[in-house]
Amino acid sequence: MSKVLIIGCGGVASVAIHKCCQNSEVFSEICIASRTKSKCDALKAKLEGTTKTKITTAQVDADRVEEVEALIRAYQPDLVMNIALPYQDLTIMDACLACGVNYLDTANYEPEDLSDPAWRAQYEKRCREEGFSAYFDYSYQWAYKDKFEKAGLTALLGTGFDPGVTQAYCAYAQKHLFDEIDTIDILDCNGGDHGYPFATNFNPEVNLREVSAPGSYWENGHWVEIPAMSIKREYDFKEVGQKDMYLLHHEEIESLAKNIPGVKRIRFFMTFGQSYLTHMKCLENVGMLSTEPIEFEGHKIVPIQFLKALLPDPASLGPRTVGKTNIGCIFTGRKDGKEKKAYIFNVCDHQECYQEVGSQAISYTTGVPAMVGAMMLLTGKWSKPGVFTVEEFDPDPYMDALNKWGLPWQVDDNPTLVE
Ligand code: NDP
Repeated sequence: MSKVLIIGCGGVASVAIHKCCQNSEVFSEICIASRTKSKCDALKAKLEGTTKTKITTAQVDADRVEEVEALIRAYQPDLVMNIALPYQDLTIMDACLACGVNYLDTANYEPEDLSDPAWRAQYEKRCREEGFSAYFDYSYQWAYKDKFEKAGLTALLGTGFDPGVTQAYCAYAQKHLFDEIDTIDILDCNGGDHGYPFATNFNPEVNLREVSAPGSYWENGHWVEIPAMSIKREYDFKEVGQKDMYLLHHEEIESLAKNIPGVKRIRFFMTFGQSYLTHMKCLENVGMLSTEPIEFEGHKIVPIQFLKALLPDPASLGPRTVGKTNIGCIFTGRKDGKEKKAYIFNVCDHQECYQEVGSQAISYTTGVPAMVGAMMLLTGKWSKPGVFTVEEFDPDPYMDALNKWGLPWQVDDNPTLVE
């Protein structure tokens, strides 16, 4: 019986909220709070009558610590689930610390304003010292470790699919399948088709920033950075088929490099169709992916935010998306002195997700693990004070819950390796 404050009411949050409402024994009361309260009220109206979970709603600007604090003090939750945007991670963590509440999110911190000189100086230092230039990294949230430990609170970072489930797969492989893991290839395949010439499956701003950035991977103790989309492979995905995939930087590589002892190489690949890449390159070339405000007819506009307003809302893709996702991790290493490989993965069908919760599979595969991560904290299955990523906990109860709550996983003992 727990009370949970959920911040954000977009594509991913909507699935997590549906799942909390299916699991009323754990989530007996939830408050849905977001910048636009009408969206929270609409979701509440849709779910009420279908669940025993008591739902309330609130308006909050989570960029303002004092507003989040006031809401936490008024609602008195056992946990705050941050399913807004990565821009709000630090303000919500600050509010949780001030009020003595556990914290969870689905993506690591990234600033909204990339031109902020203080942030820029720290970012440029990290690019030089670490060797990767993505706008996001764990350092900002890892810096809260001592504070959460001293307060006796837990912050669980990145409990979506990737990051999130992929790290549970790594912890599971390490605990049950391998004595030593040499390489990890994380493969994110979306074989879905929404019928639009161009749309993103989650928040367009966050998504386009991520995929237009240089790629990087971890090898022999350091980062190797490559130009965006310059490493391409073809892979035949079970239940989806042959797809082109490209090496990207991804946040879980950073934590896995620290937490999987002896790992020699970690890479992340995501599938993209040629049409998506051509549209993205064209938008980038004309400046539409820029985050720098420009002057237009007396107004300041940020090109990528204007683009977001033009693109289909990811939450609206559900009814039209058909096909499947196949996301997982290929491991190589040794068990009992013998060379071994394995692929742990989930296949998810866009239309089945839509029938169940009214969303496409990208929101579904992120929203379910957000609920599952929250359940681990609320039921005490995962409890230690500090700031942690998913692979730092026992994977078994999380993996069991994924099977039960809609993301069953499989192990292929003889996968084709990615060259
Ligand atoms: P959406 O843009 O659909 O939803 C974001 C929600 O946050 C909206 O309800 C928005 O409100 C709200 N919000 C934004 N700013 C504020 C603010 N200042 N205060 C309060 N609420 C705010 O995003 P998604 O649902 O697609 O993504 C949610 C999160 O999930 C992101 O952090 C994303 O990076 C992460 N993600 C993680 C994945 C993983 O596998 N780990 C995969 C996909 C996404 P409004 O309606 O007013 O705009």
